[in-house]
Amino acid sequence: MTLLDGKRIAKEIREELRLKVSGMSRKPSLAVVLVGQDPASEIYVRGKIKACEEVGIRSLSYRLPTDAAQMQVEELVKSLAEQSDVDGILLQLPLPKHLNAEKILGLIPFEKDVDGFSPVNVGKIALGEDGISACTPLGIMELLSRYGICFSGKRAVVIGRSKIVGRPLALLLLNRDATVTVCHSKTAQLKEECRRADILIAAIGKERFITADMVKEGAAVVDVGINRGQDGKLCGDVDFDGVKEKALFLTPVPGGVGPMTIAMLLRNTVEAAEKRNG
Ligand code: NAD
Repeated sequence: MTLLDGKRIAKEIREELRLKVSGMSRKPSLAVVLVGQDPASEIYVRGKIKACEEVGIRSLSYRLPTDAAQMQVEELVKSLAEQSDVDGILLQLPLPKHLNAEKILGLIPFEKDVDGFSPVNVGKIALGEDGISACTPLGIMELLSRYGICFSGKRAVVIGRSKIVGRPLALLLLNRDATVTVCHSKTAQLKEECRRADILIAAIGKERFITADMVKEGAAVVDVGINRGQDGKLCGDVDFDGVKEKALFLTPVPGGVGPMTIAMLLRNTVEAAEKRNG
């Protein structure tokens, strides 16, 4: 079994981006908007800002209180949309419950939408056009590609249909000529569906849900899940120890998909800046 080492590949990508940015006359900049004080969001934002600094992207941090009004967040996003020195806008999700995230995401111009969540970019990807793709699915595609795994004609099974992982990933796989099945909580005969997969991707959020009997011999298995196991340690959606005996390729958790997600945010930001720099 070959470990799909997202930590190593993400480091490689960050180094490539650092070199590219060092040659740019105007450095890329990313505006990060955080509303409220969700502890997990705080950690993610800190990680993203640190990663930006490493590759030479300028990060601008905007914080609003938990009780910020819809209008206040909208005004901030609109002003960032207009600022010519801002290449990317990242609205850290989830937002406090009283805010309409879809409406705010819709205010991010598609060329600055480096998270790939705005309706225009989602639509472009759905149509198979060139758009900015969501970072986790993009990171999974990049990780598999860098290990020489091709998609054309392969049977790919995605478990999970969320807006941020499952759905966009299914579209990216389809755009690369895979034959795609999307499974979810209402799927009948999930095990049989999974066992047909050449590429199996688990984005469920349930500890060690995918067991060896659900995996085809020689499959590439990607574990997107981040769960806190009963022993208190981080674990994925895949039973790593069992599945490693059958899979040809497998991602670890942590160190698989997570670092790739941040690397793709950086790449989306650098590419947005390149386009704006002409
Ligand atoms: P979500 O809760 O929005 O979606 C989970 C999906 O799993 C749903 O579509 C649901 O239908 C499906 N599901 C639930 N139970 C199922 C079952 N018994 N059988 C089949 N399908 C089932 O979650 P999400 O935001 O897509 O995240 C999924 C996991 O990935 C979480 O653990 C999350 O923390 C992790 N995640 C990791 C990264 C990363 O960068 N590594 C990024 C995003 C999400």
